[in-house]
Amino acid sequence: MGPEVKLFEQEVAAYLGVKHAIAVNSGTDALVIGLRALGIGEGDEVITSPFSFFATAESISNVGATPVFADIDPNSYNIEPRAIQAKITPSTKAIMPVHLYGNPAAMAQIMDIAKAHGLKVIEDCAQSFGARYCGTCLSCNGSCQENTRTAITGKQTGTIGDVGAYSFFPSKPLGAYGDGGMVVTQDERVAEVARILRVHGAKKKYQNEMLGYNSRLDTIQAAILRVKLPHIDAWNKARRTAAKIYNELLADVSDIITPGFVDGHVFHQYTIRITDGKRDRVQQALAEQGIGTMIYYPIPQDRLPIYKGQYATNSLSDELAEQVLSLPIWPDIGLELQELVVQALRSALV
Ligand SMILES: *Cc1c(COP(=O)(O)O)cnc(C)c1O
Repeated sequence: MGPEVKLFEQEVAAYLGVKHAIAVNSGTDALVIGLRALGIGEGDEVITSPFSFFATAESISNVGATPVFADIDPNSYNIEPRAIQAKITPSTKAIMPVHLYGNPAAMAQIMDIAKAHGLKVIEDCAQSFGARYCGTCLSCNGSCQENTRTAITGKQTGTIGDVGAYSFFPSKPLGAYGDGGMVVTQDERVAEVARILRVHGAKKKYQNEMLGYNSRLDTIQAAILRVKLPHIDAWNKARRTAAKIYNELLADVSDIITPGFVDGHVFHQYTIRITDGKRDRVQQALAEQGIGTMIYYPIPQDRLPIYKGQYATNSLSDELAEQVLSLPIWPDIGLELQELVVQALRSALV
């Protein structure tokens, strides 16, 4: 919590266009502290996407609330607004959309639902630093864009709901050299509680007033992140260029569904769908040629052993878990390597 932490908080707040940024020890802590600061706990239900990393649902369970899973839109891989609507009960207190792979969730519709039902919105931005919500509907790959512009068009993910939670884990878009996270909010009171929770629930040292956490961000991580922050837009732009190139190179490959290329998507991951049950075989074939790919995520959260038997089927999320494959992507991957990956993919698919 040295001077760089405060400076980094100020710089992130300015970059995102948000009043308060509170640095914490991880993205998971940012979610937990964000939920606690919003007053969510025992007896509350939080609606979220089944198709995410377990930290999303884990944070909800860890504050004593119940995760409720609403199925995804197969085109965006993100939570589907009508599915949220169907899961609302008198116990619902919040919605936790995840901007998966760096693709902003359908925030305009989600905020409308939240407003109509008096719900809080906490955005899981672990994969979306620098992504702006552009109101594009992925179901039509952007062709309806002009019709969906709203007041929140162009806003940074994390600044639209009540709280945004970021991760600076090394693999994330803005990565430290160890763990780190950030809670952002426009709300003075939420920010104050988050600051107190970060250091054992004490506003004044040794005068602890609530059960908090040890969740300081290390000064060394803040110092590193301050060097990287000014580059994030250029890196995200380069990722978008690489994603566009992949989409073009893969356009004529059958049994593959490429991700929609929409404004705002920062392509933390470039994730294709391989249909006809060939995914695992293709991954193996690529691995044999030294091409690393990943499956985010092989088991949807509602199917994890910890929640065994507790949830009904979310069929789209289940289907995608069998099909998704994330290809190598980083800002300066370059055309040559991308062609190599696509060539390997072509031969693996025959
Ligand atoms: C990485 C990640 C988290 C957790 O962040 P950590 O900094 O690793 O704790 C939460 N949600 C999603 C979607 C993530 O990808």
